[in-house]
Amino acid sequence: MEINPAHLAGQFNPADDSEFQVISERFTPKARIFLRIEALAAFEAMWSAARKDGIELVILSATRNWTYQRGIWNRKWSGPRYSEFEGKARAIEILKYSAMPGSSRHHWGTDIDLNAFENEWFENDTVGKAVYAWLKANAPQYGYHQVYGDASNGRPGYREEKWHWSYLQLADPLLACYLSHPPNGAFEGFEGAQWSDSIGIVESYVNGIDRP
Ligand SMILES: [Zn+2]
Repeated sequence: MEINPAHLAGQFNPADDSEFQVISERFTPKARIFLRIEALAAFEAMWSAARKDGIELVILSATRNWTYQRGIWNRKWSGPRYSEFEGKARAIEILKYSAMPGSSRHHWGTDIDLNAFENEWFENDTVGKAVYAWLKANAPQYGYHQVYGDASNGRPGYREEKWHWSYLQLADPLLACYLSHPPNGAFEGFEGAQWSDSIGIVESYVNGIDRP
């Protein structure tokens, strides 16, 4: 796999990139969201298999570039939910579930968020429990893995995300490249960017994943 350095930190537009493909409305309610072609083909096979088992998989988020991630981050930074925290502590609080721009696996076009952004839904809702059980049992066959597990193994970084699934065959080489050449200029131009080093964004968050 040839890696374009601009892809690592999301500094591109997937709509203009031949390695990315728009996700069909069969799979998502979102208009014009993108995945890497191979990751999307694998998802389609997984979606069809799930459907045969009575499980509906819905993509809620896929590729998000740097600019989009900055929007998410800066909105959280300025919103009421985090206002009691100051500076670095605020960044750490937001980092429980959201990546700093430049460090999200969603930049890579290999990762998807499925069905609901709440662990609670996957744990307690009848449909949610069935979806999660199906994914745990079957997603690895299609190359998709839950990379943010419950952290009981001591993994650093984000809290558990039962909705976030990663197509490792493509994500692994991107991660290796990211770790060996952390992207220049990725951590500038958004709120709290100055704490990225002392928080250890690359070591603890980008590299803070579970692998099969
Ligand atoms: Zn996600």
